[in-house]
Amino acid sequence: MPILKSSADIGIDLGTASVLIYVKGRGIVLREPSVVAVERDSGSIIAYGSEALKMMGRTPTGITVVRPLKDGVIANYRITEAMLRHFIRSVSSPSRLFKPRIIVCAPTGVTTVEKKAIMDAAMQVGSRRTEIIEEPLAAALGAGLDITQPYGHMVLDIGGGTADAAVISLGGIVVSESVRMGGDRMDEAIVRHVRSAYNLLIGDPTAEAVKIQAGSALKGYRQDLYDVKGRDLVTGLPKTIAVNSDEICTSLAEVLDELVQLVKRVMEKTPPELAGDISERGLVLTGGGSLLHGLDQLLSRETGVAVHVAEDPLSCVVLGTGRALEEFEGIYSQYVMLPRYS
Ligand code: ADP
Ligand code: MG
Repeated sequence: MPILKSSADIGIDLGTASVLIYVKGRGIVLREPSVVAVERDSGSIIAYGSEALKMMGRTPTGITVVRPLKDGVIANYRITEAMLRHFIRSVSSPSRLFKPRIIVCAPTGVTTVEKKAIMDAAMQVGSRRTEIIEEPLAAALGAGLDITQPYGHMVLDIGGGTADAAVISLGGIVVSESVRMGGDRMDEAIVRHVRSAYNLLIGDPTAEAVKIQAGSALKGYRQDLYDVKGRDLVTGLPKTIAVNSDEICTSLAEVLDELVQLVKRVMEKTPPELAGDISERGLVLTGGGSLLHGLDQLLSRETGVAVHVAEDPLSCVVLGTGRALEEFEGIYSQYVMLPRYS
């Protein structure tokens, strides 16, 4: 008689910017940045998640802070596995009887070998069954779309390191494309702009804060100025300058154009019947990048279809893994792994 409680089953969004964990029957229980701090010489991990993020850009020599999934590629298996195990353990009971079913959503760009490494990490914490679900399906499920019908839905998920556009019908992906760029590229564009316009060097976290507060995909968003602190490249001393929303918008133009082109390419490859459905229902945005002010309007203007930002876009993917756990028996899973014994 199995002792496991079905509530032990968990869904994981292993994102390039953050990791979220959903426990069946309880909801989202963990939300941590995908960041670890590593001691350079020994290679041992000294901090995970938000604790490691606080150290970013502030470490003494000898310690580095890494984002193992940056750019949607698993840059470092060992660290990714260790991080995943750490987060799963931190939400699960130490009991040996804890044998959850685990559904992981991995960034689309990761290779089959990397997916296997992710599944291995989940098996190591005692999963009785590990599944991998494709990101656009999880995003669509989490956005509350009814993807089981013979009807086309289109989602665009903009994460930190990746953006995925997909058309889904009858529970499967019909057309999709993934690019290795997202919110991080916006931050980098802001860093470059501030450096060339003001000779001021700022870190990525500062650029991200500017993007969130003053960033916009459209001109004329905010008139007030936003203070930015960094290091003057000429004097080498700390300095504060003020930026406005319009210049941030200009600096984001290239990244925004790439997103528009991504959506257009996927639309062009969409079979006509499904294209008709999409022009009726519109495009749904998920992922943190979709929170950029005015992005929905820009995409709508450029593609001619209505664009809706999902409710709670940062949680869509993990909520989708949750829906897959609650409602469906593995029908959306791309890969399934069972323990070698038992
Ligand atoms: P991932 O799935 O890759 O982990 P997320 O979906 O968590 O990524 O999105 C993270 C990205 O969203 C980051 O680049 C972050 O800066 C960006 N982001 C979060 N909130 C906002 C916001 N309000 N405006 C613009 N970008 C945002
Ligand atoms: Mg994501």
